[in-house]
Amino acid sequence: MSSSSEFDDIIDKDVYKYYADGEWKVSASGKFVPIINPSTRQLQYKVQACTQEEVNKALESAKAAQKLWAKVPLWKRAEALHKAAALLKQYKDPIAQCLVKEVAKPAKDAVTEVVRSGDLISYCAEEGVRILSEGKFLVSDSFPGNERNKLCLASKIPLGVVLAIPPFNYPVNLAVSKIAPALIAGNSVVLKPPTQGAVSGLHMVHCFHLAGFPKGLISCITGKGSEIGDFLTMHPGVNCISFTGGDTGIAISKKAGMVPLQMELGGKDACIVLEDADLELVAANIIKGGFSYSGQRCTAIKVVLVMESVADALVEKVVAKVNKLKVGAPEDDCDITAVVSESSAKFIEGLVMDAKEKGATFCQEYKREGNLIWPLLLDHVRPDMRIAWEEPFGPVLPVIRINSVEEGIHHCNASNFALQGCVFTKDINKAMMISDAMETGTVQINSAPARGPDHFPFQGLRDSGIGSQGITNSINMMTKVKTTVINLPSPSYTMG
Ligand code: NAP
Repeated sequence: MSSSSEFDDIIDKDVYKYYADGEWKVSASGKFVPIINPSTRQLQYKVQACTQEEVNKALESAKAAQKLWAKVPLWKRAEALHKAAALLKQYKDPIAQCLVKEVAKPAKDAVTEVVRSGDLISYCAEEGVRILSEGKFLVSDSFPGNERNKLCLASKIPLGVVLAIPPFNYPVNLAVSKIAPALIAGNSVVLKPPTQGAVSGLHMVHCFHLAGFPKGLISCITGKGSEIGDFLTMHPGVNCISFTGGDTGIAISKKAGMVPLQMELGGKDACIVLEDADLELVAANIIKGGFSYSGQRCTAIKVVLVMESVADALVEKVVAKVNKLKVGAPEDDCDITAVVSESSAKFIEGLVMDAKEKGATFCQEYKREGNLIWPLLLDHVRPDMRIAWEEPFGPVLPVIRINSVEEGIHHCNASNFALQGCVFTKDINKAMMISDAMETGTVQINSAPARGPDHFPFQGLRDSGIGSQGITNSINMMTKVKTTVINLPSPSYTMG
């Protein structure tokens, strides 16, 4: 149950309602989707299993509401977003408690996620006011054969209904990173929250409800992605899909219709460590980058590629820090908490056992209790091991020893994933040349990969995504250009 009475409306007995047409509703399906607490592995929450008919209705009202919203002055849209941001921050604690219970996010990080989301919404409102107020004015006589008799006015208009599908690991932040740009640009939004994270998502949506957005402009349809996902993504009423998640995104991009797609998918971010690197700095970044939220971050460091000559020294430093990580309950703000599900824990274990059979060195004893996996550094990993290439999404990190920088770059570029990467060296020239050679969306120099600050461009190449995100790019992506051409009389026309 929610701990704040402000949220009483969103629950019916013990099942959370879904949100459509400005109201909290019980699904006609009579069915619910269980949400299992990753730490206790007990039933934590129940959400409505929405029907296809309910999806149709939400999309119809989203379409109608969008037409009116697009006419609301930009400054008023921004004002409403600022209000939602303030409410989100006001209710950071009850929302963070849901994150702790349904995705096992450490308590402090859960609060940080909600506050960051409020900041993202406000920044988006301000950025939208600036960039959407600008258009372009062109005259025709620059193109060969033309006279100066055509004047073109170009401006940005909304796409229509944006379908937003975030993943479990940042169910609030990665929802608002889609909702806020969509709304400021004059679109409406249908949100399909991840099942693990749905209750946090519903609480977040309630802040938009309390902020007084028009009925139908935002809706939140709950249900398993495997059951209603295809119906939503292939629906003719959807004009844009903004998705963050794993391989599901690749499948969606093959099935979706002719609508703009924003895809933020998996990563296998490499950390390349050169001989001259500050190993203390590298070790600290490997801990933060590889083990925060138990490695369940798209931009987590997922493979360390270290020059053989400094590998022993680096591994020793990292091992000392890994051994100090606090393992336990998210409520106690532990560094390492349960991974999101049993299937995820089993998948991670599969990667670890494959590496063991093929001769990797375990720097700690492998230990797992239920969904809780103790942090593990695997040294002497070789390219024939699955963990060299696959995304564990857990607190296990492979180290591959390399004999040349080219070997590291080659490994990085041979991956299907290409989200971010990082390089540690004191030589800025080398860093820039390596950055240039790494075929990833972003390269961080002397720091672990990370998303943000949220207005920075953020993108994955190859199987890591389509398009570029970040506040400014998302606003632009959720608009299209509309032009009006003023045709003046021919130049021979006399004005006198
Ligand atoms: P996921 O399994 O792909 O799920 C993502 C979302 O898709 C969930 O809301 C899920 O709903 C929904 N879904 C499932 N099947 C669907 C279908 N057929 N049609 C439409 N939607 C469907 O990913 P996850 O396990 O939640 O998240 C982890 C992955 O996300 C990792 O690979 C990580 O790297 C990636 N990620 C990427 C970024 C980035 O910015 N590049 C950021 C964060 C995470 P249900 O929960 O109901 O199944």
